[in-house]
Amino acid sequence: MAENIVEKDTVIIGSGPGGYVAAIRAAELGQDVTVIEKEPTLGGVCLNVGCVPSKALITAGHRLQESIDSSVYGITTADAKIDFTKTQAWKDEKVVKRMTDGVNMLFKKHKVEVIQGEAYLDSDTQLRVMPSGPRQFMDNGGGQTIKFKNLILATGSRPIEIRGFKFNERIIDSTGGLNLTSIPKEFVIIGGGYVGTELAGAYANLGSHVTILEGSPSIIPNFEKDMVSIVEKNLKAKGVTIVTNAMAKKGEESADGVMVTYEVDGKPETIDADYCMVTVGRRPNTDNFGLEMTSVKLSDHGLVEIDSQGRTSVPNIYAIGDITAGPALAHKASFEAKTVAGAISGENTANDYIGVPAVCFTDPELAVVGLTKDEAKEKGIETTVAKFPFAANARAVSLDSAEGFVRLVADKETGTLLGGQIVGPGASDLISELSVAVNCQLNYEDIELTIHPHPTLGETIMEASDILSGFPTDI
Ligand code: FAD
Repeated sequence: MAENIVEKDTVIIGSGPGGYVAAIRAAELGQDVTVIEKEPTLGGVCLNVGCVPSKALITAGHRLQESIDSSVYGITTADAKIDFTKTQAWKDEKVVKRMTDGVNMLFKKHKVEVIQGEAYLDSDTQLRVMPSGPRQFMDNGGGQTIKFKNLILATGSRPIEIRGFKFNERIIDSTGGLNLTSIPKEFVIIGGGYVGTELAGAYANLGSHVTILEGSPSIIPNFEKDMVSIVEKNLKAKGVTIVTNAMAKKGEESADGVMVTYEVDGKPETIDADYCMVTVGRRPNTDNFGLEMTSVKLSDHGLVEIDSQGRTSVPNIYAIGDITAGPALAHKASFEAKTVAGAISGENTANDYIGVPAVCFTDPELAVVGLTKDEAKEKGIETTVAKFPFAANARAVSLDSAEGFVRLVADKETGTLLGGQIVGPGASDLISELSVAVNCQLNYEDIELTIHPHPTLGETIMEASDILSGFPTDI
């Protein structure tokens, strides 16, 4: 229906940390921007059912634990209780809604048009938007054909379902795990990656008995062993049962629970739980919106192939975030978003992945950037490594949180910082200093000669640099 075709300048499918950041940057650069989002709220997985709500529940768990036991500071509270309905209302209304409303507001400010509906690609230059869910953004209530000049694919990813565990009432994905209406007594989590392990810690702090069933020999296997072992010890201290090399076989739901069968070394075991959350990874959303109607090339893993400016095999179509190679993390999506928005405006932007930090919000937090010692060795780089413990840091001790360490990895010949690993209090914030250092290829002396305020957790990074220079102070 020719009369229903509209022409647009820059169209973005998806409003997650990839899509919404691309929209704002593109608008700032003078482009006419339209975002198509199938969900009723903006912000994608990250703001609605990922990074943001998970951190809210983690915070609630910490607050409860502090209320239950702060006796080390001489503080006792009588009978700490949690009203989980209020916790969830706080998370939904005061945290998630505030963030997603913020994206709405920014879109209005930057005159970004939003079409609520599901996009299906027809060709390299045309797509259709079909209604989906509540239609508060939909103008005409029906399908609409859009001819675009430039298109940014930012469709993100979805949870993987495994055989024997069909998502339902009691067998749930991470979204279900974030939206429980009561705190489970018994909670089984299949998959001890960062999402599963973060939520295991949160629910253990909230009072659940949690069992993690992990198929490989270690939980959060992307982080180094000496970091993970500290988290593992703390999870066990909270009463979390960690079963590694466990093959989940089936989940059988009843009216009020689920029986989970798994095998270790071929021996079957069962657990009766209130809920079983499956967090074994996510699949890129590249197979469900007509990408096959275009000439966009995918890799064997179903990821969109892009060049250094985020351009696909079709010159006017770009891709960012979880649907492209690399870590499926919000800040990586947002970084790529700025690159493509700039590229469309003719700027000389390029994706550079030298320093993509990764954080796991466990107790204590894990954070890494750049190369580990082993990764540097694989690249044939000789390194010098320094490790500074939080136990020797005044601020960590005064926070009663002195477990863990900062490790710096530097090029032995030049002293250039190649990577850093932090396990300990505030690791998620501290890693940004190391990200700047690795990204700007600073020498450890640059850190050593930078005055860090006292007493702060950040001094650990300066102290580790002191060790690299051969003149340790506080150790
Ligand atoms: P998404 O955020 O997935 O957004 C894609 C959007 O596209 C969605 O809104 C979707 O509805 C829309 N869409 C898809 N197809 C269509 C279509 N055909 N038409 C219209 N709209 C469409 N990352 C971190 O960096 N830090 C964290 O702490 C962290 N915690 C997480 C916790 C959990 C529980 C989960 C599940 C993920 C977490 N992540 C975290 C990962 C992070 O959420 C993702 O990496 C990030 O959201 C990816 O951004 P994106 O823009 O690529 O896609």
